[in-house]
Amino acid sequence: MKEEDENLKRKTKGLQLLIEKYKKELDKVRSECNHLDSELKVVQNKSEISGNLRKVCVICDKIVGYPSQSDIDTFYKS
Ligand SMILES: [Zn+2]
Repeated sequence: MKEEDENLKRKTKGLQLLIEKYKKELDKVRSECNHLDSELKVVQNKSEISGNLRKVCVICDKIVGYPSQSDIDTFYKS
């Protein structure tokens, strides 16, 4: 492997570790939230090109549920 590829690989690994670390941190913070109020939001999924409509907590942005069909209709109409 070329040296610049080695560098790239190392950087990628380092960033992935950081992402995992912050994900855990985020979960911890979110577990302190009571998710009392939610709003509809388009959430980007890694495996999909287009986003999905989800109910997310207004405070911590965690996905707390799926919208009903009437929720979806209202969201796209307004
Ligand atoms: Zn919350």
